[in-house]
Amino acid sequence: MSIKPMIRNNICLNAHPQGCAAGVLKQIEYAKKHLSAAEAAQNTAPKLALIVGCSVGYGLASRICAGFGYGAVTVGLSFENEPSEKRTGTPGFYNNEAFDKEAAKAGHISISLNGDAFSNEMKSKTAEAVKQAAAKAGIPAKIDLFVYSLASPVRTDPKDGVMYRSAIKPIGAAFSGKTLNMMDGTFSPTEVEPATEEEIFNTVKVMGGEDWELWMDALENKGLLSPQTKAVAYTYIGPESSWAIYKNGTIGKAKEDLERACREINKKHASKINGAWVSVNKALVTRSSAVIPTIPLYITCLFKVMKGMGLHEGCIEQIARLYRDCLFTAGGNVPVDNENRIRIDDWEMRDDVQKAVAKRMEMITPENVFEETDINGFRHDFLEAHGFDVEGVQY
Ligand code: NAD
Repeated sequence: MSIKPMIRNNICLNAHPQGCAAGVLKQIEYAKKHLSAAEAAQNTAPKLALIVGCSVGYGLASRICAGFGYGAVTVGLSFENEPSEKRTGTPGFYNNEAFDKEAAKAGHISISLNGDAFSNEMKSKTAEAVKQAAAKAGIPAKIDLFVYSLASPVRTDPKDGVMYRSAIKPIGAAFSGKTLNMMDGTFSPTEVEPATEEEIFNTVKVMGGEDWELWMDALENKGLLSPQTKAVAYTYIGPESSWAIYKNGTIGKAKEDLERACREINKKHASKINGAWVSVNKALVTRSSAVIPTIPLYITCLFKVMKGMGLHEGCIEQIARLYRDCLFTAGGNVPVDNENRIRIDDWEMRDDVQKAVAKRMEMITPENVFEETDINGFRHDFLEAHGFDVEGVQY
């Protein structure tokens, strides 16, 4: 079957099954090679991991590193479309299939669930799946790694059934910038009006920390937490040039709420878990980040600079470093900044990197965008995230 990418405004509407599977395999090879068996032998590595938002981007890398880097039993939950007569499935659908197939081949227990993580029903079903997976592996049903890696435009609150929709908008003043079209290198001016109070509230409802807290309560109620449990959720901060639309905008408010939730979880479940952390990750090309105004231009410049300095990482490299150097160190201590956050955005935020990126962003024009930015790398990563442009796949 020949499938070509269908892309509109940095959104890809289809996916390639074999390409997705090949992408998963590539990440598996990386995890196997780079997460040594040493930590597992020292008993600090996870044996049972639950990943919510497991199918693509940072969540998929988190699952692969746990399952294939450490040989952990993994239960993954995501919300994906199955293929139909008219449409291919979403990339995550094929990634989950490929993950389960490879896990079975390697003798690792894995269960993948498809459904709405915000609902009570999926929380119960997931807890049951965790128990099932542990029983199959003959290990205690105690989660020692819980990764919360959701990125969603909507959330239905299970308490009142109201559906909230998030908005990526500035707060207080309009934002104007330019958005790079990764396919042809053109720029379009972007003007985003400031968010209303309601839009801020709704975005916090969707992308804030309330649901993470509900997950922790649900897992505790089912007896699935233990003093070994480490919980982590992901955030982004980025350079000041993006703050108007990101850190100081609606999404930033939601991420502040994620940090509030983290503090709450650490208080409430103190005696039950090892700890909860928010990890600040690097800006990368995923289905979510490609649609945030100005971020594609920033990322293409960032990649150019970081690749030039030999500092570039993708999702799998970031998460392998998160596990090896932060969450599952031999001594067991988790390095954090003064706000208790893990910083694997440390290389991105280095002074020399940021200065070089800022300088580059100022000089980019439609005429030099192909030479002076890594637009080709951005486009490749974006296509690869949908199973296209993957090495070794016959399209
Ligand atoms: P992504 O779009 O690649 O993946 C999102 C995941 O959430 C998918 O597995 C999807 O199936 C799942 N999902 C969405 N709605 C769901 C629902 N209702 N029920 C179950 N699953 C659902 O996103 P990503 O870019 O990997 O982002 C993951 C997290 O990392 C987010 O919190 C994001 O803010 C953060 N982060 C991203 C970047 C970046 O540059 N991409 C940088 C730093 C932090």
